[in-house]
Amino acid sequence: MEKDGFINMFGGRTDAAPDPYRCNRVARDAYEGDPVPFSEEELAQIDERSRRWAWIEVEQSAIAHNTRAAKAKLRPGCRLMAVVKADAYGHGAIPCARTALASGADSLAVATVDEALELRRAGFTCPLVILAEPPVASIPLLLANRIQPAVYTPEFALAYGECADAHNMMAPFHLAVNTGMNRIGVRYDQVVEFRRQIGFHRALDQVGTFTHFATADCPDHFDFDMQLRRFTQAINSLRAAGENPGVVHAGNSAVIFRYPQAHFDMARLGISLYGFHACDELRGTADLRPAMSVKARITSVKDVPLGDGVSYGLHYRSPGLVKICTLPLGYADGFNRLLSGKAKVILNGQYCQQVGNICMDQCMFEVNMRRGSKWPVLDPREGDVVTIIGRDGDAELTITDMARDLGTIEHEVAIGFSHRMPRIQK
Ligand SMILES: *Cc1c(COP(=O)(O)O)cnc(C)c1O
Repeated sequence: MEKDGFINMFGGRTDAAPDPYRCNRVARDAYEGDPVPFSEEELAQIDERSRRWAWIEVEQSAIAHNTRAAKAKLRPGCRLMAVVKADAYGHGAIPCARTALASGADSLAVATVDEALELRRAGFTCPLVILAEPPVASIPLLLANRIQPAVYTPEFALAYGECADAHNMMAPFHLAVNTGMNRIGVRYDQVVEFRRQIGFHRALDQVGTFTHFATADCPDHFDFDMQLRRFTQAINSLRAAGENPGVVHAGNSAVIFRYPQAHFDMARLGISLYGFHACDELRGTADLRPAMSVKARITSVKDVPLGDGVSYGLHYRSPGLVKICTLPLGYADGFNRLLSGKAKVILNGQYCQQVGNICMDQCMFEVNMRRGSKWPVLDPREGDVVTIIGRDGDAELTITDMARDLGTIEHEVAIGFSHRMPRIQK
């Protein structure tokens, strides 16, 4: 085989065979490392939106507005922590953290060590908390970067304290209290015992104590009230035992807007920072602005004759007198495949039906070309901007509606859009 020459097109090329990848008429072996006839500068100028006709827009003015709306719900002196985990719920951790801090937030929270490191490397110097206990092996990174972990196991606490002590440092942490959600934390009636277990360690510094509510966004108050009583009991028992709980915090977005009695010293703002109400009950009571839009440009427009199918499985059949337009985004970008044939998009202020299966990288929608409807007939062209999430004229498509159609919550939909599209901060 090898001797025949041109069999192996992935590197086994011989002089006898034409090079299937040959693209440079001057330098024969361009793809093997010879200089290409474009300057670095020229190539660098081709921006994200020229490389990809699908993108996310994030309005930082909305992030600022939502931060202020939440801050206004807190009594003076109550601190606000901006939760920017999961890349700020898909909105971009660094710009959103910057805006939140400039608009009334005092500190930042994330879920993982890497998320915290990204913020420190970007130059943020404010208090920075990981809302869970990271692996023991990451402790030097926490100390070196002044990242405050949640703590709830003696093993982690002691390893953390010892590592700090060995380097002549303090080990600040937030004690997580389990008041009923049963996700993480020391049980509310065991916090004093836990403190005693780790209390001998001089480097450990309890700078905060917190819990998390399981039902703050649910209509019924019963379980919420019970968690609140248990948390208050835990804080009181710590104080009675002569321990300082540090900054006491419990509330997420739902609590900020619904339960002022649970604000304590600080509240943690997540989903509402990005413009979403934590529950239906709050709609219309707080003025929040969604920050994220998703847009794409049409890459192909065609007449599809009556009866012809579209996309994998050909489940959609053309009713005739339609144009089928293609968009270069798909489920790999967060346009969930379960929405196939159900989603709408907006072109020139008019809703259009997405049709056929949503593919990994592309999807199609239908433009009705029949005259006589109340809408003017559209004239879709390649390059036209289409809205997948956001407002165009009087038409609007929201993450809230999409979450409802998918049977999930806005958090998951927003985070889903973060994967592969360029994010334009406005
Ligand atoms: C994610 C998270 C939050 C933010 O919750 P939202 O409902 O998005 O406001 C607050 N606290 C903890 C512990 C969290 O994990």
